[in-house]
Amino acid sequence: MRGKALVVDTVFSDLNPPVKHYPQNPIRKLPLIPRTLDPWADQHQFLIYGTQQDANDLYYDGWNPALSCDPAVVPGYNEAINILKTLPDNVLRGLEPQYNNYTKKTEQKAMYCSTQPNRGYANDMPMNYDAEGKILRDVHTGFIMEQGVSPWDKLAVHEAGHIIDLAGTNRGGYYWTPVQGWEDLADEINAIFDAQGDLISAYANTNSHEDFASHFCYYVWRGTTLRTKAATSTDVAERYNFLRDKMFLGIEYNDPLPPTPTTVSFDGYVAERIGTGTGIPIKDAYIYSHGAWEGFLVRTDYMGEFHVENLPIGHYILWAEKLGYTKSLERELFITQGQSIYLGPFFIKKLLPPNFLPIIILGGIFLIVILGTR
Ligand SMILES: [Zn+2]
Repeated sequence: MRGKALVVDTVFSDLNPPVKHYPQNPIRKLPLIPRTLDPWADQHQFLIYGTQQDANDLYYDGWNPALSCDPAVVPGYNEAINILKTLPDNVLRGLEPQYNNYTKKTEQKAMYCSTQPNRGYANDMPMNYDAEGKILRDVHTGFIMEQGVSPWDKLAVHEAGHIIDLAGTNRGGYYWTPVQGWEDLADEINAIFDAQGDLISAYANTNSHEDFASHFCYYVWRGTTLRTKAATSTDVAERYNFLRDKMFLGIEYNDPLPPTPTTVSFDGYVAERIGTGTGIPIKDAYIYSHGAWEGFLVRTDYMGEFHVENLPIGHYILWAEKLGYTKSLERELFITQGQSIYLGPFFIKKLLPPNFLPIIILGGIFLIVILGTR
């Protein structure tokens, strides 16, 4: 069941419960500058900030202007803003300021471009909503982009998907968005994006919000790939058709063309298969290749997904590995022309530590001894 209540820990996001704790600074009242002066962003009143804080800093310490920077100099900024600019106006409404029923204010939304490494984080809470003002102080509803292994165009459209899902429509119960055709979609979205079935990646199976954000992302970032997958998966087809007909109003996207006809790119994901299910996404796994022509090595992002491009055509043998897991099956590919290839899943399985059994036996003996002496 989807939570409807506005509670502080309802952070449907790519941030697991924050792990670091920072001492609280005194309440600040400082200007929220600098931000980029991009005409497109200004037109949509979408704020873009650069920061040297990471998501945990912003979460616990709030926005610190002393650590801000020009977002345009943060690596990945251009990729992020360029893909957001391809969103149609009606979808962009979800990133524009909207009246918030809970704060009784019009809340602006923002993208924070961080120079720090890790991941993406979608924050669907209104600014300073936390009653004690201790978390996300002076941080707008929106998303925080960190440096990492995900391409920033993919990351930006995924996180924007969360905001459009949670704070742009009335789906999460946060915002009332008076856009024709959007207001009554909540039930339909809840019914379709249920994190069940044969989806675009294992990460989409994580929960209903990742289901929505992952398919929203692929719709824009890799439209051809998502359509290809939809041809063999009724679950993906249902999601694709909903996005096309109800949200994008017929506008469809294609995969970007390979930079030259002699290069190839690969996309896919690594998951641990549980039973016969799609499995759980594995981050920080490696995809290896020993090709007759050229090898490569790429790491999965926090969604368990990978992307590698500008590889030469040729003969590839690919597999996934991660310390503590079995190696995946090998995949052999003969590539004779430039193309983008969606590889889908590589399944790996957790290895039991070699000393697992003795620990259980010793633990059992220990328990028997303890209980026996009571
Ligand atoms: Zn996500």
